[in-house]
Amino acid sequence: MVFDVHSQVLHEVDELAWELLRSGLNTYAEAVEKLGSRFGTADIAGALGEITALRARGLLYAPDPHADYDPPPPLVKALCLNVAHHCNLACRYCFAAAPEAAAKLMPKATARRAVDYLLAASGARRHVEIDFFGGEPLLNFPVIRDTVEYARRRGKAVGKEVGFTVTTNGLLLTPEIIRFLLNNRVNVVLSLDGRPEVHDRLRHTVRGQGSHAASLTRIRQFVSAWRQWDGPRGYYYLRGTFTRHNLDFADDFCYLVDQGFDKISLEPVVSLPCTDYGLREEDLAEIRYEYQRLADIYLELARQNAGLRFFHFQIDLDEGPCLPKRLAGCGAGHAYLAVDAEGDLYPCHQFIGREEFLMGNVFTAELRYDLVEHFRHAHVYTKEGCVRCWAKFLCSGGCHAHAYLENRSVLKPSRLGCALMRARLEAALYVQAAKNTPTAR
Ligand code: SF4
Ligand code: SF4
Repeated sequence: MVFDVHSQVLHEVDELAWELLRSGLNTYAEAVEKLGSRFGTADIAGALGEITALRARGLLYAPDPHADYDPPPPLVKALCLNVAHHCNLACRYCFAAAPEAAAKLMPKATARRAVDYLLAASGARRHVEIDFFGGEPLLNFPVIRDTVEYARRRGKAVGKEVGFTVTTNGLLLTPEIIRFLLNNRVNVVLSLDGRPEVHDRLRHTVRGQGSHAASLTRIRQFVSAWRQWDGPRGYYYLRGTFTRHNLDFADDFCYLVDQGFDKISLEPVVSLPCTDYGLREEDLAEIRYEYQRLADIYLELARQNAGLRFFHFQIDLDEGPCLPKRLAGCGAGHAYLAVDAEGDLYPCHQFIGREEFLMGNVFTAELRYDLVEHFRHAHVYTKEGCVRCWAKFLCSGGCHAHAYLENRSVLKPSRLGCALMRARLEAALYVQAAKNTPTAR
């Protein structure tokens, strides 16, 4: 397969075309001299002709169409409300589990103020989003319920639609809460890491017991209610984290499918390599192999179940997300902000509590515009190494928080994060190719 970075076209090529493209041979004389012992001269002429034609149509060696990219003006479209900086679990890899992180619940008045802030800061934009995050956000369910009702009411009054997402470990999903989430079309991200031994190794209750069985039971109840719901509803998906302890994470995907789930994502843990569970450079070969194994398993299972989705293999080369999203990713710090229990604003949940990234407060509605500008200008044309990276329009410059964690700069992507991203995208491109052209497998 050959991926043309700037046109985003994925070509399936034969061995001759591969050799020509790989070695950059574009004159007939050169090509015959280098490849004449392996391929016929007529075939070489034909393949060169096809390459020239594709080039003329802008499908090979396409120039960068966005090289002079200027990001759009800042506009806050989404807020992450950290309604509970507190959890009923003590997962070892969670930022909210840090010993210095004091348990806090966001008061109703702060959440309401955050809604007012979002409705005002989003200008003429009609659709805005609120994510309820934690810790475990359902520990503060009364505030979630109030915020949803308040935001709907206030949104309607100013002609805006507010979408909601909650990320939960599932333990507090009672029938009442499930009904509320479905009734209010709240998107639900259910956090479960896969096989019981994998999940329980790092995700304990505060008393040190495994949490897998209890989470699975509640998550199953939610998904079953979601499937039976006949009104409008939000989406759900299962989100797992893989670490150094389960580099065979394709088996966790299979486990989750066996449990009857069909919307699944598995993310690499965000951590420094010095922890026992943090991913390291020396794990890369195994991870790359595992993504390829997962791609084959996914293709096989998707043939039997048309509704099966692995979030990270769902790339769209034809349409894809809007330009700023393709070039700058999540929008943290200028289009997306996180709010802590006191109403303090940060670029995203991963930066909460880092003094140097405190951007403002919803009660004063003032923002540090130097930080806004810093994040707005953090995109694939300013981040170190991205311009020359084949994955730039699919990766969008990686996670700012991961970059900062590793390099103390949001403009210097995590080397390991980049390698993981490229391994995952290679597998995703392969899945796209195999779905569209069965010969690609
Ligand atoms: S993989 Fe790394 S270098 Fe490539 S676009 Fe993403 S962040 Fe930039
Ligand atoms: S900076 Fe990273 S963790 Fe924060 S919202 Fe963006 S992708 Fe997510």
